[in-house]
Amino acid sequence: MRKKVIAGNWKMNKVLTEANQFVDDVVNKVPANDNVEAIVCAPFPFLTSLVEKTKGTNLKVSAQNMHFEDNGAFTGEVSPVMLKDLGVTHVVLGHSERREYFAETDETVNKKTKAAFNHGLTPIVCVGETLEQREANETKGLVEMQVKKALDGLSDEQITKTIIAYEPVWAIGTGKTASSEDANEVCAHIRNVVKDVASDAVAEKVVIQYGGSVKPANVDELLSQSDIDGALVGGASLEADSFIQLVEAGA
Ligand code: 13P
Repeated sequence: MRKKVIAGNWKMNKVLTEANQFVDDVVNKVPANDNVEAIVCAPFPFLTSLVEKTKGTNLKVSAQNMHFEDNGAFTGEVSPVMLKDLGVTHVVLGHSERREYFAETDETVNKKTKAAFNHGLTPIVCVGETLEQREANETKGLVEMQVKKALDGLSDEQITKTIIAYEPVWAIGTGKTASSEDANEVCAHIRNVVKDVASDAVAEKVVIQYGGSVKPANVDELLSQSDIDGALVGGASLEADSFIQLVEAGA
């Protein structure tokens, strides 16, 4: 059985006191069982504090992006070496907002995914189609290409550890959730792609999340689907109560 991974992506929200308060509120409420993993994906300035607060607990801390180089003249960037050194365990890569506003490409996502593994970080690799692409029936082909490019050159062991997040762009922050059947169909397709590029055994183990307007009211239905192994949640992850409800749904 694959565990459920519930990740709250705060995006560019909160200030340090709010971030600390959130973790204080939730950290002892994360169920201590192997069925669910809970992660907060926080802005860079909060990571040191949140890692400190979550030491020895069941709540993991993720970054929302990073550069693929270890160090050097890259003003404004943060490296995998820095994240690992802080005690961060996960990093979100290729989020559609980074692809749209910050020129992230499948090629940089692939470099970053490799860099994450080189430094012992678990990548949460985001893929998903726009509304135009969905309406043009391009969803499966596009997502397949994004997954193949992101995973290119990784070992089977690395692919097994990768978390893939299917986030249809039109469902992000819009209140429009993909129907659980549609979301599951694409997640199942992604699992087949993993079968192609790795093996049946790897595909059986890889965790595939759905993201896009997930909230306590729809999370059970989404998580009950055969190929949805968790959720990457934006808006509904900002409040402690709502985040814990989502985590409990996965437990
Ligand atoms: P919302 O849950 O706010 O739709 O955001 C989804 C998302 O982009 C998570 O990464």
